[in-house]
Amino acid sequence: MTSGSSPRRTAARQAALARAVEDGLLGARSPLVGLLDVDGVLAAVEALNEAFEGPATVHHTFAAKACGLVPVLRLLADAGMGCEVASPGELEQALAAGFTYDRLVFDSPAKTVEELESALVHGIAINLDNFQELARVDRLLAGREPSGPIGLRVNPQVGSGAIDAMSTATATSKFGVALRDPGAVDAVVAAFAQRPWLNRLHAHVGSQGCPLPLIAQGVRAAYELAERINAELGHARITGIDIGGGLPVNFDDEDDRPTFADYVAELRSTTPGLFDGRYTLVTEFGRSLLAKSGTIATVVEYTKSAGGRRIAVTHAGAQVATRTVFMPDAWPLRVGVFDATGRPKQGPSEVVDIAGPCCFAGDLTATGRELPAVEPGDVVALYDTGAYYFSSHFSYNSLPRPAVYGYRTTSDGQVRFALVREAQSVRGVVEESGLSQANALVALRSGGPVGRPKPGRKP
Ligand SMILES: *Cc1c(COP(=O)(O)O)cnc(C)c1O
Repeated sequence: MTSGSSPRRTAARQAALARAVEDGLLGARSPLVGLLDVDGVLAAVEALNEAFEGPATVHHTFAAKACGLVPVLRLLADAGMGCEVASPGELEQALAAGFTYDRLVFDSPAKTVEELESALVHGIAINLDNFQELARVDRLLAGREPSGPIGLRVNPQVGSGAIDAMSTATATSKFGVALRDPGAVDAVVAAFAQRPWLNRLHAHVGSQGCPLPLIAQGVRAAYELAERINAELGHARITGIDIGGGLPVNFDDEDDRPTFADYVAELRSTTPGLFDGRYTLVTEFGRSLLAKSGTIATVVEYTKSAGGRRIAVTHAGAQVATRTVFMPDAWPLRVGVFDATGRPKQGPSEVVDIAGPCCFAGDLTATGRELPAVEPGDVVALYDTGAYYFSSHFSYNSLPRPAVYGYRTTSDGQVRFALVREAQSVRGVVEESGLSQANALVALRSGGPVGRPKPGRKP
């Protein structure tokens, strides 16, 4: 297995942290920010394109849920990517970012009739999850041909990775048609035989904690099914295979490991026919494109001791590092300690817990770590948090979403920042918590006029 180590990334991050403190983007008045290394993101896209280069046509899409920030999506659109969306919000973010309908893939295990209808009208590629959804699309099409590709998601049931909650291809996973269930393959073949417009298979097998051979085995199962369907139907009905995303990320050190090239090498050795050009390939990577380019940076508010353990209280907790806080063993993060000027801290180390601001005892982003002694005013950085962290806010304790900045560094050490997302204001927090309905319950109790319940969601 190869690994792409990145001294550039480490140096750029250090420069960005020091400059963020100097410029006041991070400090007493804004004690929490997300930082994104733009060159790192673009390098990941380039590595992805290179790895898959070959005779087969490949459409790389970015899984919007990994970092649903419009400027990030636009950067990826500009770099030639497509976008995988799985909710009305992600769809609108992708459109706002400039993706055209033909560059989108719509997945979701719970698509409504309205969402399906709209995707069909716009010719968005759709991956259907189950037979009920297929029947729903039959009714919507009423004999017409869809203008975009339509696939069926299958679950090869190859088993679980190291993190159960993240494993999509277990025997009882909620995703797709479970291929190893009795009669399932025949039912899938029949579904394709009955619908000339059904022309793709989709298998998103991987996720954090999944070893490459397991993911490759799942992709191979989808490929073999495509071969079987095409053989039984006597023509190349399935023209595209969507292999999903799910390449795990190394959270232990700075290396990119496994690389996209490692993954493709594994796929090429287990399933060479996938790449010979008969199928259009679609990918949907998320974490592996963004994680290592992101950093959460926070100011240490207090340090204290309890039961002999040192604790540093910061402003980054479950609201921005939700998975790490709730499943610390599955999602450990690397932690860096910097002084009040944002320079790497040297000196004697101590064993410390890094705590967040949320009011529950488990709000810890790291426990028992040996780190340079932390003092109030220092900066703590949580590395590899570019995907599913500051972009996937959890509004516990009504904590506001932090600002996110993209950065680039020049060879002479200059840093330029671009605001990606403004910090949410406290007013904004109050507004989204029913401010406009403030009197509703008091009025309901007293029998006075109440706001009329409005069904449905706002467009
Ligand atoms: C989440 C998801 C992805 C992206 O997964 P990563 O692990 O971030 O690469 C791709 N496709 C589907 C259907 C997903 O649900």
